[in-house]
Amino acid sequence: MSSEQPTGPAGGPATPPTQAASSRPPTPYRPATVAVTAGRPPHVSDNPLNEPLTMASTYVAGGDLEYGRYGNPTWSAFEETLGGLEGGRCLAFGSGLAAVSTILDLVGAGATVVAPRHAYLGSIGQMADLEARGRIRAVLVDIADTDTVVAACADAALVWVESPTNPALEVADIPAIVAAAHEAGAYVVVDNTFATPLLQQPLAMGADVVVHSATKFIAGHSDVLLGAVVTADAELYDVLKKRRDMIGATPGTLETWLALRGLRTLHVRLERAQSNAQELVRRLGGHPAVAEVRYPGVGAIVSVVLAAGGLAADVLTRSTVLWVHATSLGGVESTFERRRRWKTEPATIPDGLVRLSVGIEDVDDLWSDLAAALDGLDSP
Ligand SMILES: *Cc1c(COP(=O)(O)O)cnc(C)c1O
Repeated sequence: MSSEQPTGPAGGPATPPTQAASSRPPTPYRPATVAVTAGRPPHVSDNPLNEPLTMASTYVAGGDLEYGRYGNPTWSAFEETLGGLEGGRCLAFGSGLAAVSTILDLVGAGATVVAPRHAYLGSIGQMADLEARGRIRAVLVDIADTDTVVAACADAALVWVESPTNPALEVADIPAIVAAAHEAGAYVVVDNTFATPLLQQPLAMGADVVVHSATKFIAGHSDVLLGAVVTADAELYDVLKKRRDMIGATPGTLETWLALRGLRTLHVRLERAQSNAQELVRRLGGHPAVAEVRYPGVGAIVSVVLAAGGLAADVLTRSTVLWVHATSLGGVESTFERRRRWKTEPATIPDGLVRLSVGIEDVDDLWSDLAAALDGLDSP
């Protein structure tokens, strides 16, 4: 099962030959090294370098695992690696929304949850559903308006943060929100899907739980659904693990194996996707068809608002060759989506907003394709 030590290769090269493994100092590895080396089998002759895919529904009795719903060595390898990057202990879930639902289930009856008005639709949809059934009271706020969020924290049991937000790309002041929430005795959960642990570590800023749709940047190849939570609070970890095991929101083993393979290259993929995004932001800002470019300065998600509105956005999404019109994000391939095509998208998201998930292709090819489609739009 997973060791307490979240980072570093077991018996890895950091241990000088003279030093006993038991006295090894806390691993000083930087994120790229953690992404590559954590969650590996020990460096023992004939061990595989990668954690193998263990397909098992049951285990010989008497150990820690017992049954396939309680744990799996392949899940553990993924969890150790993501936990190492976020600075806590990780639990993998069947999807991001399975993780979201397991966390929201912890909120007591009638308690208040503060959440961003612009956020992943499935997360605020779950809150609306719980509110409609009288389970919670949801207070939606502009998460970038720190004074309003801080004031709302006073009555909260849980403060849900997504930063940057989907698809408006607003940025929350996480330390200020954490201070206000903790003052009120509320837990803070941060959905870190857009930033990834390489650009933002919410636990280091005092948040209690990080949630991920590992479907996105972590797995990174548009072929897996997977979720995760990470916490440094041992009690919360035990409660969340018990709930995951009890309700069966467990991950597929192949999915954790693929997501771990994705996680190994996250830093390299993100570096390229981010530099592509930054270059596209620069070029998009000068295009007459684009009224507004929203970009928080880091990451690979960019939102553009077209001057000619929603119909132009529909035309754009049908006019490219490389860019694929698709929901979801964080893959190696560039995709984009007119967000208001979803009836549940808040009306405060502009009709002509198109969210770009910038991939790792050649940026000049990405720009040529996008610019040709933008040039073909009628001017407003
Ligand atoms: C996709 C997404 C989710 C939901 O995750 P699934 O893996 O699709 O269930 C939650 N939060 C954010 C920010 C997302 O992008």
